[in-house]
Amino acid sequence: MDQYSRRQLLHSGFAAGAFVLLQGCASSARRPGVRVTPQAGDPSVWKFESQKPGWMTGSSSTATAPATGVIPRTTWTRATPKLWDTNPMNGISRITVHHDGMTAFTSTSQADAASRLESIRNSHVDSRGWADIGYHYIVDPAGRVWEGRPINLQGAHVADNNEHNLGVMVMGNYDQQSPTGASVKALDDFVAAMMRKYKVPVGRVYTHQEIRPTACPGRSLQRVMESTRARGGVLARA
Ligand SMILES: [Zn+2]
Repeated sequence: MDQYSRRQLLHSGFAAGAFVLLQGCASSARRPGVRVTPQAGDPSVWKFESQKPGWMTGSSSTATAPATGVIPRTTWTRATPKLWDTNPMNGISRITVHHDGMTAFTSTSQADAASRLESIRNSHVDSRGWADIGYHYIVDPAGRVWEGRPINLQGAHVADNNEHNLGVMVMGNYDQQSPTGASVKALDDFVAAMMRKYKVPVGRVYTHQEIRPTACPGRSLQRVMESTRARGGVLARA
C-alpha cells in the first residue's frame, strides 16, 4: 500500500467512525425558507404541576437550575437557532422519545451534561446543516430536563415526521447501557406533563423506531417506553 492509499484508508476510516458516533439518532426533513417570529426560548412553557421532592436528586449543582422546571438553553449554549432555516411548530399533537446514540453516558455532573448538549448541537448544525439541536427537550442521567430547540420551532428528530412532533431525548446510548432510575422518572414525569399540557393521548407518544427504521432509542429505553405506556404504566395513566 502506498502512502496515498494508506492516507485515504485512514481518512475514510475516520469518517466512518465519525459517522457511527453521530448516527445514533438523526434524521430530519427540513423545509427551508419559512420565517418565524423570533422568540426567546421559553422555559416557562412547562412547570411541574405537582412539584415532587427529589425530582432532581443525584445532582450537587441543582442550585443553578430553575426549581420549577426546565433548565434554559442559555445555560449551555450562547448560540441561537438559525431561524430563517426553521419551520414554525404550530401546535403539538405527538411526542417522540429518542436517545442520543453516542457513547454510553452516566455522569450526573451538570457541566458534563451541558458540554454533551453543546457537542450534539454542534454536530447537528455543523455536520448535518440543521438550524439548531434537533430535539426540544433533553433528559440527563441525573434526571434534569434541559431546553433544546425552542418549542415554537419544528424540531429535526424524525425524518419526514417533524410536524407537530415534540422531540424528547434521553442522553446516552441505550443499546449499551440502561437508563438511570432518575432519568426514567424524569422522562415519565416530563412526558406525562407534556401529554396533559398539549392533550396528547398515550397512543400518540412514540419512540423513534416506531415511526422510522432506526435503533433509536436503544433496546433498554425502548423497553422502558413500552412498559410506561402499557396498562398501569405512568404514561398510560397520564
Ligand atoms: Zn431518535
